[in-house]
Amino acid sequence: MIDQKIVFLGTGGTIAGTAANAFEHSRYTAAQVGVHELLAVLPGWHNGSGAERYLVEQVAQLDSKDMGFDVWAKLALRVAHFLAQDDVQGIVITHGSDTLEETAYFLQALLAPEKPVVMTCAMRPSNAVVPDGPQNLLDALAVASSRGASGVTVVCAGAIYGAEDVQKIHPYRLNAFSAGDAGPIGFVECGHLRLLRDWPRGQAASLVSELADAAWPRVEIVMSYAGADGMVVRALLKAGVKGLVVAATGNGTVHQDLEAALVLAIQQGVKVLRATRCAEGQLLLGTHDVLPLAPGLTPVKARIALMLDLMRAP
Ligand code: ASP
Repeated sequence: MIDQKIVFLGTGGTIAGTAANAFEHSRYTAAQVGVHELLAVLPGWHNGSGAERYLVEQVAQLDSKDMGFDVWAKLALRVAHFLAQDDVQGIVITHGSDTLEETAYFLQALLAPEKPVVMTCAMRPSNAVVPDGPQNLLDALAVASSRGASGVTVVCAGAIYGAEDVQKIHPYRLNAFSAGDAGPIGFVECGHLRLLRDWPRGQAASLVSELADAAWPRVEIVMSYAGADGMVVRALLKAGVKGLVVAATGNGTVHQDLEAALVLAIQQGVKVLRATRCAEGQLLLGTHDVLPLAPGLTPVKARIALMLDLMRAP
């Protein structure tokens, strides 16, 4: 029987952040501490026995507000590499909370892994007087170690969320995420998993080998709101945008002037998708639908889906 390993990939974030004052939770610098140092909380780390079970790599070190395609490509290639190893049971990725849902959705849409890829974060810097990162790491380890777990998930404040559903909904509280009306996949309670529904499943986009030199298509998000007149869309068309996601009001409604500009974009060969600005629920087909729907995806995730589509079939 092969000794099953857990891989830890560090990318930065508040979980690796430090503050000048340990009581300060909002003024700090993200991405200061290496992932090896964060893992000091793991069982077996101190006496050295962890070294055999854990493989650790610092893939990037950034505040996730600055996440970019270069880091996504590097991360996806490392995740794909480790998933292909027979002796790897699962992967934990430490990441900033700000764009966590985007990276999670990107990895799920791209790889649809059968093994668990568990992303975690923290809302307080690593040297806070009571940091939340260590418990989140232990909970993520519990999920990644669990036989039968699969897909890309996010673990924060004891809850496990699916990559498609998870959204950051609060700027600073420890439980900053929600899966809306889909609800969490389950909870980690004293190291044990209590599952409420199935793990994320899907079809991999099979683009991994192209990623290193991929030209990422420019896809932008525009929002429908009072007075949205399509000026931004016309400027983006001039700039050569390849895809547009409209963050529509309510059940996918779009201001008539913005809609006219988006119809023009489609006529010029630009792919357009409609998602809702609403925090919860899914778009239902309406009576006057002119623009294609991205059902069940938030605008930022619809953008990733459209980018991957355009990479597959430009
Ligand atoms: N700005 C930080 C980041 O996304 C916030 C966090 O990690 O909570 O890296």
